[in-house]
Amino acid sequence: MTIASYRRILLKLSGEALMGDGQYGIDPATVTRMAGEVKAAQDTGLEICLVIGGGNIFRGMAGAAQGMDRAQADYMGMLATVMNALAMQSALEQLGVPTRVQSAIEMDKVCEPVIRRRAQRHLEKGRVVIFAAGVGAPYFTTDSGAALRAAEMKCDALLKGTSVDGVYNADPKLDPNAVRYDTLSYDRVLQDNLKVMDASAVALCRDNSIPIVVFSIREQGNLARVLSGQGTATTVHQKD
Ligand code: UDP
Repeated sequence: MTIASYRRILLKLSGEALMGDGQYGIDPATVTRMAGEVKAAQDTGLEICLVIGGGNIFRGMAGAAQGMDRAQADYMGMLATVMNALAMQSALEQLGVPTRVQSAIEMDKVCEPVIRRRAQRHLEKGRVVIFAAGVGAPYFTTDSGAALRAAEMKCDALLKGTSVDGVYNADPKLDPNAVRYDTLSYDRVLQDNLKVMDASAVALCRDNSIPIVVFSIREQGNLARVLSGQGTATTVHQKD
């Protein structure tokens, strides 16, 4: 299946994608720009699931490094992802995109619980479904949450929007000779420990044959460009 023939995708954005030029938290103008990217992609006729991290607010590992109980800190990180999901929901709806937030930690005053068949219906009705709180358990990340939701929602691909335009054999910000892959296999990502997503998330995508498309979310209009098969990206799939 080529990128241009995808019908349903899961878009994973890290919490940092909502920070703008800041060092922390949510920059409303940046969230609006990200929402515009999602709208442009949806306007091409795609069904869209969204997962947003929480690293712009709180990461469990950072809390644990400062002496907090890891599981407790991870729950705080999950709550951060709910805040990001609500911010994105507002921004999308201001652009006229109908949305629902489903959280893996139930929070019935602000969003729905994760109910797969209900999410399915939302997508069919043209709503963007934002899945919050990762997998709902500590010791995981939102990358694993994204892979899990992509599998259960039968997405054609998991698109990971980052600050670089694909996967390189070395960090392109540090090594000017770093080479970008157009495609590569899940096994190579895992063997070479390439920084695509957590190993558990990559393995889940591999076991369910969900391609991972890594692209830059920094340039305006890039998500729609990549989805039309024209943008720069790296696709991780079964073969090298
Ligand atoms: N988290 C968790 N379980 C999950 C998803 C997230 O414990 O299923 C916690 C974890 O502490 C993580 C934080 O939430 O550090 C924020 O998520 P993540 O680091 O994945 O955000 P991103 O790096 O994508 O912004």
